[in-house]
Amino acid sequence: MSARVIITIALRACAFRTGCHVLSGASSARRLPMPARETEAIILKTFPLGEADRLVSFLGRSSGRVRGVAAGARRLKNRYGSTLEVLSHVQIWYAEKETRELVRIHQAELLESFHKAQSDYGLSTGLAVISEISEQILPEHEVSEPMFRLILLAAREVERTGNWTLPLSYFAFWTVRLGGWLPRFDRCVVCHTPFGTKPAFYDAHQAGLFCEKCRRIGMKPFHVEARNLAERFASERLDRIEYEKSMQASARELREAGLAWIEHHVERRLTTRELLETT
Ligand SMILES: [Zn+2]
Repeated sequence: MSARVIITIALRACAFRTGCHVLSGASSARRLPMPARETEAIILKTFPLGEADRLVSFLGRSSGRVRGVAAGARRLKNRYGSTLEVLSHVQIWYAEKETRELVRIHQAELLESFHKAQSDYGLSTGLAVISEISEQILPEHEVSEPMFRLILLAAREVERTGNWTLPLSYFAFWTVRLGGWLPRFDRCVVCHTPFGTKPAFYDAHQAGLFCEKCRRIGMKPFHVEARNLAERFASERLDRIEYEKSMQASARELREAGLAWIEHHVERRLTTRELLETT
């Protein structure tokens, strides 16, 4: 029997005992806990809850985005260890309750740690941007395999390269693309004039790219190099693209445009975005 199977059986027994406890109490049948579930997950965010617990938002590979309570996770000695860090890749066991929005988290086991990125201020800011965007755009309980893989790929590359520049550009571009909000990169949204090698313009208030003539006040330029980088992102995997210093400006432009389109879609400012400037 594998360790995983033994743990699962132990947890089921535990969940069963909890069920017995609830049954023997004053609770009605409506509060009967559902059977324990298990999924591979990415921790998106955690908040302190009361004195001892943590509220945890995670993206489950088979559950979609779910929020739950990890009881005792704030105690000095707790069974979660570093599993509840932002963007930790974990196996998670939880139980849903029919009458509650929050699930009860029983256990989390680390599958992959991004310790270097999580413990460095600059890198963790990059992870925080990925986490905030995922929280904002992913509907609850909706499975999203492409976003799951995208978040994991971006976090891995921040950890591996010790730099968030390229991963964050790639993440922003693909989030916009997967969301279906990517504007045409070859011509003006208003007059349809092809950009050619000329700069295009964008802001967070409009969805499209504008030409020099149609641009509105305050719009930022989106140069051909950034549009070419987007084309590379569309056809090459992030971990196969070598970051070169010469890409810095276009990676930044692409990231900023991507974040602007995400903000346009969610109709609010991303709070972590400003922190990027301080790293
Ligand atoms: Zn135009």
